[in-house]
Amino acid sequence: MENILLLVHTEPDGSLAKSAGEALRAARTLNKAIAGSNLVVGLVGETVQAAANSIAGCPATKFFGVAGPDFAHARYSTDAAAAEAICKAAQATIIVAPATTRWNRVLPGVAHRLGGRADTHVTAVDDAEGKPVIRRWYYRQRMEAALTRTHRPWFILVDPGSQAPCECGPGTAHVEMVTVNLPDSCKRTTVLGVREPRTAGTELQTIRPDAELLFVAGAGWTKKQADGKVHLEEAEKLILEFLNLTGASLGSTKSLVDLGAEGQPVLSFLSHLNQIGQTGSTPRHPKGLATCCHGEEPHTIGWRFIAERRAINLDPNCGWARGKADVLYVADAFQVMAKVNELLGAKK
Ligand SMILES: Cc1cc2nc3c(=O)[nH]c(=O)nc-3n(C[C@H](O)[C@H](O)[C@H](O)COP(=O)(O)OP(=O)(O)OC[C@H]3O[C@@H](n4cnc5c(N)ncnc54)[C@H](O)[C@@H]3O)c2cc1C
Repeated sequence: MENILLLVHTEPDGSLAKSAGEALRAARTLNKAIAGSNLVVGLVGETVQAAANSIAGCPATKFFGVAGPDFAHARYSTDAAAAEAICKAAQATIIVAPATTRWNRVLPGVAHRLGGRADTHVTAVDDAEGKPVIRRWYYRQRMEAALTRTHRPWFILVDPGSQAPCECGPGTAHVEMVTVNLPDSCKRTTVLGVREPRTAGTELQTIRPDAELLFVAGAGWTKKQADGKVHLEEAEKLILEFLNLTGASLGSTKSLVDLGAEGQPVLSFLSHLNQIGQTGSTPRHPKGLATCCHGEEPHTIGWRFIAERRAINLDPNCGWARGKADVLYVADAFQVMAKVNELLGAKK
């Protein structure tokens, strides 16, 4: 019989992140698809009861928990010990977990300790005649594969943003606490805190994976405009105002972030972390708006999971016009964004 374990870690405030709800959706899909399978939940964190209660309405037959100050922060040794202990207590054959940075670092190692196998960046789970099937992309999102495994335990790390979160409803969960005896060697690393990248000139965190909209800035913002001059300050003001008004996530082209490294004028709040594309990230957002960006293949490959795409470019022959965007506005992005900000400001 398959024992499907949803394995999640709690957030610093004791809650569960959206990605945990998405992994729960995938675990439930497998639970429904595999006849006679059993769903259980495992939680790791400083505290776990509130998180367990928040999903108590799910059809899990048991909740396991590892809790305490030693498990508050992401730390390989303690997270791996906790995950291993829960997998053993639950006798898990299939482990479904959100592919957070915390679990991505740890769970393939736990799979190795347990003689199992791990698949990361899973974007869908399915069933084929009662057999669990996962889907994931290869070669920078150019090919999708569906695969299954007979080897157990099987760790499935579900990419955040790939599922609709499961809303099972709250209740009171009985959490069976699992004791983990940590040797001192597991505690050699002390987590002092979290430092987020803050780029010069702003305290704004511009990368927002849960945002409705991805706003991409291209190198055109730093190029000479019709009057023969560069308008960098105006570009910064327009983009920051738009981000503040909409809560959009900020993406960039490679050309734009590379300019900074080459000592040329660049938007002060951008770093390589903002880069979208073949050598950048492939975020998931319902909508995307590219501005002053040419829409070349190595960039647009990073738009694979953006559902509705729009672009603003002066050039009617830019890459976006060649089937890359749903809507292309052939216009000056400086003028369009100034007007959009004005309308958004008036609405607020
Ligand atoms: C191996 C490899 C990997 C790569 N990986 C990536 C990657 O991960 N991500 C990535 O982005 N690129 C990547 N590239 C680079 C990519 O091919 C392009 O060079 C890059 O995306 C171009 O950036 P851009 O569109 O910002 O700049 P440009 O090509 O300079 O385009 C600027 C655009 O701005 C427009 N513009 C100027 N002023 C205005 C205005 N006022 N209003 C509206 N439009 C205006 C212009 O018409 C032009 O189309 C890679 C390339 C290679 C070879």
